[in-house]
Amino acid sequence: MILAIANQKGGVGKTTTAINLAAALAMRERKTLVIDLDPQANTTMSFVDVHGVERNMFDALTDEACGLRGVIVPSRQPNLWIAPSRISLAKLEAKLVGELDAHFRLKDRLDSVRAEYAHVVIDCPPTLGLLTVNALVAATHLLIPIQSSYFALEGTDDLLETVEKVRLRANPGLKIVGVLITMHDRRTALGRDIKAQIHRVFGQKVFETIITKSVRLEESPAYKESIFTFAPDSSGAAEYYRLCEEVIDRA
Ligand code: ATP
Ligand code: MG
Repeated sequence: MILAIANQKGGVGKTTTAINLAAALAMRERKTLVIDLDPQANTTMSFVDVHGVERNMFDALTDEACGLRGVIVPSRQPNLWIAPSRISLAKLEAKLVGELDAHFRLKDRLDSVRAEYAHVVIDCPPTLGLLTVNALVAATHLLIPIQSSYFALEGTDDLLETVEKVRLRANPGLKIVGVLITMHDRRTALGRDIKAQIHRVFGQKVFETIITKSVRLEESPAYKESIFTFAPDSSGAAEYYRLCEEVIDRA
């Protein structure tokens, strides 16, 4: 499975989901690669010390000799590797202007390492630009996190339109594995209303697992840990573990 985690809306839980879902996949003793495609590099920072990172996804996507293999580093967790990002990745779009294969760079680079990993998880930036399109072209599956908030569904039409465009030519097999409700507050009427609204729009696509709002999940990246080592008995750990099982079942 090559799983892209995308939603161009900022702060909806993409990175938190990428980190913890990848950690959960790796815990099941499957070799897992996380690709950080966000120039903010939050996923990278939660796995490795960015200052120790020599080459990053910008090099992987622009320097053919480097490729993906040239940037992958092990994380501290067994079975989990990371292809790191740096702020320089923000220059990719300008660098690839006019290149005919600009949308296919990640797919092409992944081909040569794909067989070495059971799963690949791609964290996308909060845009529908070239980086996210590269992820959608390379992916077999898409997971859409949606924050349980009043404006939750704003922008999802644009995301689905981009998915349709990608399917048309570049990646007809791309499946939406599911829509994940994140940062949910079960206790409020608003929380329940939003959940019902997301279900009305996405129906069966919504994962049964819901990620509730949790201080532990918010804190864990600061300690460079996944929720499974930072707070193994927390609700967040149980939820992301359940999500992992649901993703595997659906995929
Ligand atoms: P961006 O669009 O900037 O890349 P994102 O979609 O990757 O953001 P995250 O970085 O995962 O979103 O989450 C945004 C913020 O919300 C972070 O501070 C994160 O720690 C926090 N957060 C994520 N999930 C939860 C949760 N279930 N409960 C509480 N806080 C959360
Ligand atoms: Mg992020």
